[in-house]
Amino acid sequence: MPYPKAHPLTRRLLQRPRRKRPKQRKRHPLRFSPYAWAKLIYLRDRGPTEVGGFGITEAADPKFVTDIVLIKQTCTDVTVVFDDAAVADFFDDQIDAGRHPEQFGRIWIHTHPGFSARPSQVDVETFARVFGNCDWAVMFILARNGATYAELKRAGSPKTEKLSVGIDFKPEFAASNQSAWEAEYLQSVREELLPPLWDQPDWFDEEFAYSEQWPVFPT
Ligand SMILES: [Zn+2]
Repeated sequence: MPYPKAHPLTRRLLQRPRRKRPKQRKRHPLRFSPYAWAKLIYLRDRGPTEVGGFGITEAADPKFVTDIVLIKQTCTDVTVVFDDAAVADFFDDQIDAGRHPEQFGRIWIHTHPGFSARPSQVDVETFARVFGNCDWAVMFILARNGATYAELKRAGSPKTEKLSVGIDFKPEFAASNQSAWEAEYLQSVREELLPPLWDQPDWFDEEFAYSEQWPVFPT
């Protein structure tokens, strides 16, 4: 017996107006190449601390991260402090390589060794202060368990926009390069051993003061 042309239920479904999707999602998700994602996971899992760096993108696709560059940094399991001179060198090197700041200085990436990708208060303050002059910037956090957090901020707007995050397998991507990633990790990441609490009763305040050493990046 032939199927009826339209099942009554289907017809009813078709006639029903489409339900509107919630508005905030997310026209331009933050995407990673498989290479960049694999490298970030390698660096995240290499040591016990947070690690941080910048996402590198192509000019035509500023929310598609194709590489991640670590900055020389001092890390604990709850903080990353970039070395000022290393940030300046990174900017110079990238400009020399022919990139624009939109391609290397707008996507701030760091990992959380714990199970939450939620930005800390220091993260929020750092993002606002350091990237405040940029026309736009993204803060991206990847936690040990794979949880992600991505937030877009535009200059002149007090509001931030949550971004969805994905891996884009469609464009060609480079093969893994663990030995280079290892070298970059060893060159960039210095683990800071926290002094025992009883030696330095105000260490927690000092920890927060570290983030004040962050430079404001050129726009
Ligand atoms: Zn953080």
